[in-house]
Amino acid sequence: MTDNLWRVSFAGSDPAEEGTREALCTLANGVFGTRGAAAESTAGDVHYPGTYAAGVFNRLSSIVGDREMEQESLVNLPNWLPLSFRADDGPWLGGPEVHVIDQRQVLDMRRGELTRSFRVRDDGGRETSVSERRIVSMDDPHVAAIEWTISPENWTGILTVRSVLDASVENRNVSVHRQLEGRHLRVVGAGGAPGACWLEVETSQSHVRCAQAARTRVAVIGRSLVDTSLHRGDLEIGHEASVAVEAGDAVVVEKVVAMFTSLDRAIADPKTAAVVALERAPGLADLVEAHHRAWDQLWSRWHVRVDAGDPEVQRILNLHVFHLLQTLSPHVADRDVGMGARGLHGEAYEGHVFWDDVFVLPLMSLRDPDVARGSLMYRYRRLPAARRSARDAGHQGAMYPWQSGSDGREETPTQLFNSHSQTWMPDNSRRQRHVGLAIAYNVWRYYEATADLDFLGAYGAEMLIEIARFFASLAEFDPSDGRHHIRGVMGPDEFHDGHRDRPGSGLDDNAYTNVLVSWLLNRAVEVHGLLSGPDGERLWKRLAVDADEAARWDEIGRTLVVPFLEDGVISQFDGYEDLAELDWSSYRERYQRIGRLDLILQAEGDNANRYRVTKQADAVMLLQLFTQHELIALLSGLGYEVDASALGRTIDHYLARTTHGSTLSRVAHAWALAPLSARRSWELFREALQSDIADTQGGTTREGVHLGVMAGTVDMLVRCYLGVRARGEVLWFDPCLPEAVRLVEFRLRHRGVWLDVDLADGVMRVGSPPSQKAPVKVGLIDHVVDLAPGDSAEVRLRSAKEPRGPSVDPARFDPDR
Ligand code: BGC
Repeated sequence: MTDNLWRVSFAGSDPAEEGTREALCTLANGVFGTRGAAAESTAGDVHYPGTYAAGVFNRLSSIVGDREMEQESLVNLPNWLPLSFRADDGPWLGGPEVHVIDQRQVLDMRRGELTRSFRVRDDGGRETSVSERRIVSMDDPHVAAIEWTISPENWTGILTVRSVLDASVENRNVSVHRQLEGRHLRVVGAGGAPGACWLEVETSQSHVRCAQAARTRVAVIGRSLVDTSLHRGDLEIGHEASVAVEAGDAVVVEKVVAMFTSLDRAIADPKTAAVVALERAPGLADLVEAHHRAWDQLWSRWHVRVDAGDPEVQRILNLHVFHLLQTLSPHVADRDVGMGARGLHGEAYEGHVFWDDVFVLPLMSLRDPDVARGSLMYRYRRLPAARRSARDAGHQGAMYPWQSGSDGREETPTQLFNSHSQTWMPDNSRRQRHVGLAIAYNVWRYYEATADLDFLGAYGAEMLIEIARFFASLAEFDPSDGRHHIRGVMGPDEFHDGHRDRPGSGLDDNAYTNVLVSWLLNRAVEVHGLLSGPDGERLWKRLAVDADEAARWDEIGRTLVVPFLEDGVISQFDGYEDLAELDWSSYRERYQRIGRLDLILQAEGDNANRYRVTKQADAVMLLQLFTQHELIALLSGLGYEVDASALGRTIDHYLARTTHGSTLSRVAHAWALAPLSARRSWELFREALQSDIADTQGGTTREGVHLGVMAGTVDMLVRCYLGVRARGEVLWFDPCLPEAVRLVEFRLRHRGVWLDVDLADGVMRVGSPPSQKAPVKVGLIDHVVDLAPGDSAEVRLRSAKEPRGPSVDPARFDPDR
């Protein structure tokens, strides 16, 4: 693997691209993250330094027009980066009189390090070069460090360096939020002595404290340490040091920071914890070494090696794994954090947790199940809130919120700013009740990958049952067709929030929702059986599930309606057939981007509800969550006989009418297409890879990377193209590899056993490294082998031209697979 497969480099500086670069260069360790902003920069139109700690939210109210709006946001915490310097009495770097004339930034994903080299010239003509390296420790999740080496190039005089912790920050990353209140913090205290200082802040409503302690050492190479003095400013504290330098000298500034919040456990208080951690923190060289070791270990588990002819595929996949691990690192396994859709990389969607983890946790369950379990526990702890929401809405069970933050209440705003019309419009996306189905799906996939019956008995089953109960209580029986119906919900496609004549009131019989509900009700019946005996006794008593209720689940699970269009195409919802076709070419001509056609149509006084237009995979999403034969069997269980060709037509129908206004959409379509046309699937996969690195949504990456598509693309290579599925005891492999892919190699974990998988030259090999573990069952296309530690098994793949029989033939469907 050549070095540049592990690097993302940026040369020069482009104010318009800076925000995107900052998000892509974010360094994080799961516990906290810091955007890759220049250390001398302050928040403004170009730069946006942001530091976020997982789970630190705060609620503020704002007046928008004549309305009050309350929002809970992931809080931008004090900026620990600031470093600056000046020559003699000249201007400070970061101000307008000092120009960065040459710059190169490199994100080293292998080692989790951001480096930057640049030269600056001040108005007095003095030129200085700087090289920087920066880490957010993956070894000690409370420590970060930055180092500058400053060299005067053409001047001799006094170099003054300043290093501070800055509490003047606000939440201002998302441009429309600039209309809202953004000041979440008040300073509780600050202090220090020469050499080290601390700063403590508290959020205004949630009263979470956050303390940072910083140590700055300044030394001219070849000479002794330079004395530093404490510097206090409005809302900032730090150190200054002045030293006489000559052209060619090199001055090293090393800043080590420790950070704790009151959400951290086993600490006296955040300030004491930060100060003590800083005192104990070794020098930068040791910190960096331990950090590299931690990344090394992570990569040895997580690296997906691929040869698809174009090295760019490998490089972007590395970037995606890198940001996924920075957000859901092993350090979050026992913390109370859910997966924010945009990571710790920016403020889009206020850091909220959506359904996006359905693109993440199934893969996580096969790699680092403890982290997947941690994320599921975030949901479990919010089960009481979900139960309250269901009750308040007149339903039973648990209704999870579309957007979730600190305490599990519904955080979805009721208004959405339309940048085309410059007006606020109603946001009904909270009607996406399917988020609960994603949670249940994740619980089940976790269970299949781990066989963790203890988790299922103590937590997972309770979520499954309560979500199932909620949907069962939503379902209404209609004697006229003898079927159950679910009304007033939205599917993943956010362009449709109601029938064309009743916008905003939700849809009837969204196919995605109904099929998943049917699947879930079957799982609820299954789990009831699985946890019989002592494991389930207490649970079933507490949840008061009786035979009548189980029978009702079974009945609803068999009688939910799935609407169809002509020719066996699954209809996205009841009434879709009445919608008009859009004149796509006219919109493509008039607008540069039509991803958010809903906003465009609204600005034109029209409404997306009237048309057959889809923001993202909705019905098609079913083919990401289930294989073709699983979906065919699910539909058959509901009384609909559908064949693979109808599923193909379903994909074609929606693909032609989808704007991919969400980055998740291409992953879902590529996944669905894989068994039908690996070539078309691969094209979409390649487009999905570009989502953040090329900011394909036109300006959204600067507000945080899109973790769903990042994990989703990695997952495509593993679970989709290699056909990896944990079903029952068996871990199945049934590849449908695009022609471009010549080699894939990765590791995964099934029921506690690591497996090494590689596929090259048409042969797939699965090996179980030596260990004390019991053998595991591995299914290679159509036969099962018991793989003992130290053993391996291989299979030659059928050629792409041969039909993929078992995937499409319902008659051969084996329900255990
Ligand atoms: C998508 C949702 C997604 C959310 C957060 C929206 O644009 O439509 O499906 O959950 O972004 O990523």
